[in-house]
Amino acid sequence: MSRWIGITLAVGIAGLLLLFVLLPGIVEQVAQGVVPHAPHEVSPAARERHAGLVVADWHADSLLWHRDLLTESDRGHVDFPRLDAGNVAIQVFTAVTQSPRGQNYDSNDASSDNVSALVVVQRWPLRTWSSLAERALYQAERLEGYASKAPDRVVVVKSAADLRRVLDARRRGPTRPVAALLGIEGAHALDGDLDNLDRFDAAGFRMIGLQHFFDNRLGGSLHGKSRQGLTDFGRQVVRALEARHILVDVAHSSPRVVEDVLAMATRPVVVSHTGISAVCPSPRNLSDALMQKIARAGGLVAVGFWDAICDTSPSGVARALRAAIDLLGEDHVALGSDFDGGTWTTFDAAELAAVTQALIDAGFSDTEIEKVMGGNTVRFLLAQLPEN
Ligand SMILES: [Zn+2]
Repeated sequence: MSRWIGITLAVGIAGLLLLFVLLPGIVEQVAQGVVPHAPHEVSPAARERHAGLVVADWHADSLLWHRDLLTESDRGHVDFPRLDAGNVAIQVFTAVTQSPRGQNYDSNDASSDNVSALVVVQRWPLRTWSSLAERALYQAERLEGYASKAPDRVVVVKSAADLRRVLDARRRGPTRPVAALLGIEGAHALDGDLDNLDRFDAAGFRMIGLQHFFDNRLGGSLHGKSRQGLTDFGRQVVRALEARHILVDVAHSSPRVVEDVLAMATRPVVVSHTGISAVCPSPRNLSDALMQKIARAGGLVAVGFWDAICDTSPSGVARALRAAIDLLGEDHVALGSDFDGGTWTTFDAAELAAVTQALIDAGFSDTEIEKVMGGNTVRFLLAQLPEN
């Protein structure tokens, strides 16, 4: 009898352990990926053109998932082998700390959270279970871990001098390290405490999104309930970010928050991942007029590869980038994939040459291609990051 209880218990525990090992992968494969497709045709000329570009992407949530990013995976969109295959020189990794159940583009609140379950299933340290700040810091530690394990493949960039060094190293060869920058998606990660900004600064975070899918203590989300502008705390945070040369990202902020930020900002802001309303009138996208206001203030608008652009094929990406250039001018447009952000795309980081091919096919000039694929991002970061 006791033998049977023992066996049942052992089988039960083994099953539970197996579930914990397999579950993170299953969760990720349901949440995001690349739509099955025939290989994208890229001509030798386009491949050569792509290899000569400095490619930069403003938004990937890869640090949230249970994968070793130094190893190539068939899940999600981004890891360092795939970034190398796609000739990506600069990748911003954004830390997600809370996401509401039933997340949508119209109306969400902060009462539920899927990341809490993910944190437990993925066996993150206990300190991350109840603190959003710790979740962000843990994701920074994961990136630092990759950089110390493979310094010839990953460098965490915290200053303009760091970025210059990595770009020089890539030009010189033979190694091609990725300049990895840290961002946060939603300043609720501060846990309402401005002192946490010192910890984020020290950990190397160089861009912070004010909101994510729900209203927070700083102000309204583009997908929240209040649609309100910046709160007093929000203004304090924006001032503190500017003082530290940490970029302000308004990708998920309500139009009123964006207006309030622009009214007080002394530095340009970023929209790290978005579509363009002119070609895809989605509630996920700010109005064309507000985007123009951001660009006029020197800001950068990074166009994504997921449903915010409606047509997610490489030619659809080219159409969205053309609309962005028409609207904002060629100096204010960049790439903001939203890879690994719970999104479905038609290509992953390794297949980015397909975008260059689509831009050539759509008649983009050499200068336009060079600027949107990464040139604008390099210029912007060198001007906005702390010098050392
Ligand atoms: Zn996002």
